Amino acid sequence: MSFSKRWAALDWDHHRLSIYSKTRQDVERALAKSSRNLDDFAALISPAAEAYLEAMAQQSAALTRQRFGYTMGFYIPLYLSNLCANVCTYCGFSMENRIKRRTLDEAEIAAECEAIKKMGFDSVLLVTGEHETKVGLEYFLRALPVVKQYFHHVAMEVQPLDTEAYRALVAQGVDAVMVYQETYHAPTYGEHHKRGNKTDFHYRLQTPDRLAQAGVDKIGLGALIGLEDWRTDSFFTAQHLDYLEKQYWQSRYSLSFPRLRPCAGALQPKSVMTDKQLVQLICAYRLWNPQVELSLSTRESPHFRDNVLPLGVTSLSAASKTQPGGYANPEPQLEQFAISDERSAAEVAASVRALGFEVVWKDWDNIYDIARQAQMASQTAAG
Ligand code: SF4
Repeated sequence: MSFSKRWAALDWDHHRLSIYSKTRQDVERALAKSSRNLDDFAALISPAAEAYLEAMAQQSAALTRQRFGYTMGFYIPLYLSNLCANVCTYCGFSMENRIKRRTLDEAEIAAECEAIKKMGFDSVLLVTGEHETKVGLEYFLRALPVVKQYFHHVAMEVQPLDTEAYRALVAQGVDAVMVYQETYHAPTYGEHHKRGNKTDFHYRLQTPDRLAQAGVDKIGLGALIGLEDWRTDSFFTAQHLDYLEKQYWQSRYSLSFPRLRPCAGALQPKSVMTDKQLVQLICAYRLWNPQVELSLSTRESPHFRDNVLPLGVTSLSAASKTQPGGYANPEPQLEQFAISDERSAAEVAASVRALGFEVVWKDWDNIYDIARQAQMASQTAAG
């Protein structure tokens, strides 16, 4: 059993039509409920709901405070390598782009960790391109012991792996893995993923199943907004989350909503999402799912981030550099995508505090990893 089965039963055109034909009554009914289903979510992301943004924002902010209080988690991406064997139309690291490729060795990783640690972070997201041999499991198993010396919470955004490999990463202290489907519309997925392992739509689609089966504590999902109709892709993302929460309740989940940004070989979004529509989506996710973590990256502008963060967001990246080695030795190079919020971590933290929030640099300790590993070992032994 995997999400592929549920995905196969979902008709893209039917759901698209259903979302676009929602009425004001559907939206009002969804807003009046205290607990909402996927049909309500469809109403809340529909064009009809755009007129209810203020009411959505108020409810979303209240629900977020109830569940998460006045806290905002901070994390930073650490790019370990820009090597990639895939061709993706929207990414600066795409194999066809003639850029300087670099993979950090253990000493360089330690230097990056030192630089990041000085900024105050304790939560790091390790990012690589997708290169099976050069930045595969073996490389991760060398990099993780270095990174774990510096940070308690370690997340990864790397090529999809098999279940055994994920178990090995959990044993090395990986707490979270992000794997974005980019788009749930298979033909469009095919248009944008032209070469390499990432062309396998279903292997990627089934990755969160493998992550949960391997005991990964937190799994991140999302679509790259702009490749396809954002409302329908977001509905499919919600379907995916709904399936995972029911099937693998032991894991926690987070959602991201990156909008296409300019990069080398820039691609124009097929579906443009306005700022207001991104606010609508964030609020709709929160109204449908009060417990899911919502993450906003530095792809968005400082002004937008400051305005939207009280409405539903629970974690922010800050001071991001998307070139490997960029924290210890900042030098302008071709990046994976353009950063929009270029403020320092201290500046972002000051803005967040000015809005009345507490910045959470650390919300995990390695002691929890030990407890989790012991629990997994006893489960495996039992059965
Ligand atoms: S999106 Fe990922 S897989 Fe595709 S080119 Fe960029 S780094 Fe490689």
